[in-house]
This record gives sequence, structure tokens and C-alpha cells, in this order.
Amino acid sequence: MNDRDSEDIAAQFIERGWEITEDETQADVAVVNTCAVREQAELKAIGKLGHLIWLRKPIDADFPIVGAVGCMAQNRGADLVKLMPDIDFVAGTRQTHRIAEIAIDIFNKRKAGIGHPKLPKGAKRTPKTSAAAVDISDNLQSHLYINKHLPAPSSKRACAFISIMQGCQMNCSYCIVPKVRGKQRSRPLEDIVSEAKRLADSGVKEITLLGQVVNAFGRDSENAKDPAAFTRLLRAINDIDGIERIRFTSPHPSYFGDDLINAYAELPKLCEYVHLPMQSGSDTILKAMRRPYKISSFLKIIDKLRDRKPNISISTDVIVGYPNETDTDFEQTRQAFKTAGFDMAFIFKYSPRMGTESARLPDSVPEEVKEMRNQILLGDLAEQSMRYHDKFIGTTQEVLVESAAKRGENLFMGRTRTHRKAIFRASPDDIAKLVNVKINSITVTALEGEIV
Ligand code: SF4
Repeated sequence: MNDRDSEDIAAQFIERGWEITEDETQADVAVVNTCAVREQAELKAIGKLGHLIWLRKPIDADFPIVGAVGCMAQNRGADLVKLMPDIDFVAGTRQTHRIAEIAIDIFNKRKAGIGHPKLPKGAKRTPKTSAAAVDISDNLQSHLYINKHLPAPSSKRACAFISIMQGCQMNCSYCIVPKVRGKQRSRPLEDIVSEAKRLADSGVKEITLLGQVVNAFGRDSENAKDPAAFTRLLRAINDIDGIERIRFTSPHPSYFGDDLINAYAELPKLCEYVHLPMQSGSDTILKAMRRPYKISSFLKIIDKLRDRKPNISISTDVIVGYPNETDTDFEQTRQAFKTAGFDMAFIFKYSPRMGTESARLPDSVPEEVKEMRNQILLGDLAEQSMRYHDKFIGTTQEVLVESAAKRGENLFMGRTRTHRKAIFRASPDDIAKLVNVKINSITVTALEGEIV
């Protein structure tokens, strides 16, 4: 979601005639799009903001204008100014569509000499002598405007993300997202389809639909009339000429109905891959987390998906060491992890986030136990993932060529329909084309092969 929002913010600047620079020392405006999901991400963003302010030479110079946006900005608001009085603006998640407007306004004022008051030599700025602008107000229309994309680079772009909604109406005890992103707001289906058509016209072949609970699209309130809105959207995008592949992330098990399961069999462009967060295999822990499903119903969804698409790849998120998680709870998670046969997973050690319900509970599982459970599950994942990858050797896979590989001359990377990364020899002309790649070898993270 943040990547997508950042792209929209960059496109807002381009629309106003600005350029994006790769060299931050050359920037007139620097925007840090922050995350609040984990403490580590917040510390990283604060460090980055401090570094950008430090780039002002001399230190009390006017430029670059530095702003914090996104989830941490929303959560901390004016507290960020207390922490960093030299910052120029703090804008929350419901202002994402206005970031360039806010920043350029400050930039123009600064050029006219209006901004942070000048300080006597050697004096440090304080919140009282800061002119930082803070806007974390609500704007219930903001989600309607996250629809701008950067122009494709010199080579074509193969894939694009579309934000189909903002916010979340679930209530997971450990999660800060509903607080910082607000209640769920879905965009009109027609707007999303037009955006997808524009992307198809620009050469994009693969669309990933994004939402905090993407499959609750169109069900923003309890009495929303259209429980099948998400599959209607999938069908509409499946009908767009030029789009070859559709993905979405992240769905919630509670909204994974039979209509969505059947869509895998019915829609040829819907790729055989799903990221379905399980979080725990223990009903006791799921209940404590306020995840409103039982592990048996979660596994039933997986069974049905495998029934419709036997080669589907399924990944997940798991939290280990949630308050009061016992050895038995963890064993149930391990068991469910094996039964589901995940071939990819993001495994997190629980850490409390201020402002969430679970932060009020004692963080009762010792750090070394969390670490041990984390390592055990990572070991299980490595085995499952290798076993899954093994099956690819000798097969030929349809791959969408995305870009030059990070390493290796003439090597390019793309993804299979099952979202496996593939590395192979190709040419820049192949970018955004579907090619057939014969898989010769595997590593833990990628398939290697040749175009046939
Ligand atoms: S579904 Fe739960 S974990 Fe996901 S964003 Fe909403 S509250 Fe957070």
C-alpha cells in the first residue's frame, strides 16, 4: 500500500511539472512515506527524516523541504514536530492525495522568505520556533484520488498496483492499521476499471489489486448490499483487453467466500497464487487476536482452493509469541502450517504496538521462546518451500518479464503465474512480454532457466 501511495505522490509532483531525482542531495523537496506497523519501521523513518534535515547546508538553510507522510505521521502528528522541530510538514493518511500541493506551497512560501523563523547562531529550534505544518485531519474522499501512476520508464512496465480501497474495518487486537488508516472506504468499481484500462493502454500486462482487506471490497458497512462486489470487480478486469494477469493482496479469511474460490476456476487471468494471512493455528490465540475465524474454516478455504487449482501457490503471515501463546498453541500453528502446505510465509515475532488493544496485555512470552518458535517455523518453511520449488525443475513456465535482474549480464527477472521469481537470459525488448521459460535449477528464492 505504501509503495502504491508513494507512486501516486511522485506522480502528483510530475503532474505539476516537477522531476523525481535519484540523488536525495539534489532534492528541493523530500517526502518520507512512513509505516507504523512495526517499531523498527518507525525508527528507520525517523532516522531518514533526520538525515534529510541534516542535508540542509548550512544546517539552518531552507531546502530541502522535508515532510513526513503516511501511517506514522498520522499516528504521531504534532509529536513528530516535538521530536524534529526542523521538519516542514507532517501529513496523515487521509491527505495522501494532497502531498505535492502541501509541499509545493511550503516550497514557494519558503522561496518568498516565509517559513521557520531564523535562529540566533548556535541556537536549536524548538517546537515553539518551528513553522511545521501538521494536517492529520480526516478526509473521507481521499481514497477516490489515489489513481495516478508514474509514466513508464524507457522500457515498458509489465506490472502495476491499483489501490481499490483505503482503511480497515476489522479489529485485530495487535494491529495499528484501523487507527492510522481509518474505516474502510472502497472506490467505485467503474473508477477502478477505468484506471486498469488506462494501464492496459500504456502496456501494463499484470494488475495487482490492493486493499487492507481486499476481498471486503464494496462491503464498507455491515448492511452493504453487494457481498460479491469483489468478484464482480475481478470479472470486469478479466474482461479488459491487454491485461493478461490479475493478482490481489491481502484477502481476509472471513471474506473468502465460494464465489471468490470459484473465480480461480472461472477467470483465466486470475493467477494461481494467493497470500492468505493465517496469523495462528490455535483457535484460542485467533480469538484473543480478534481474528473472527476458526483454524478449521481457514484450512477448508485452502482445501477448496487446491481443489479448484491443484497447482496454486499459497503464502501466509504468522505471528509467533502472541501474549499467552503456549507450547500447545504453537504446536497447533506448526501443524496448521504443514497441513496448509504454505510455500512462502512472513513470520513475525510478536511485538506490542502502542495504541493497540494487545499492547495493554503483558508481553508474556519470553524473547528467547519467541525466537525459538520463529526459527522452528522458518525451518518448516524452508523445507516446504524447497519441496515446492523442486517440482518446477524440468517444467516450462509462463513468465512475465519484469526487469533486468539485480545481478548478471543479460539476466532478467520475471514471475510465474504462481508468483515465483524466475531468472533467465533475455533482452530489454522482452520486458512486459509473456515468455516460456524452461526451469533448469532452483535456489531458495528463485527459479533459474532459459527462454524456450
Ligand atoms: S485485517 Fe486485521 S491485521 Fe489486517 S489491516 Fe485490518 S486490523 Fe490490521
